[in-house]
Amino acid sequence: MLVPVRCFTCGSLIADKYNIYVKRVRMGEKPANVLDDMGVKRYCCRRMFLSTVETINQLLPYYEVLMRKKEEIESSG
Ligand SMILES: [Zn+2]
Repeated sequence: MLVPVRCFTCGSLIADKYNIYVKRVRMGEKPANVLDDMGVKRYCCRRMFLSTVETINQLLPYYEVLMRKKEEIESSG
């Protein structure tokens, strides 16, 4: 889903850096170099960046369809 606000293990704030990380990696920089540059040193925090898969944009259309169907059912009954 969305990136967690804090590291699960040490509680360090990571959500504020996630968008910068994603932008720089998409521009072609190596993830390891980006994390070093941003000062993310602990491996517990690094895995948060490396292992997060954002699925919110794939899931949203299903919720929209669900809400439309729910409205249809409520208005017909
Ligand atoms: Zn951590």
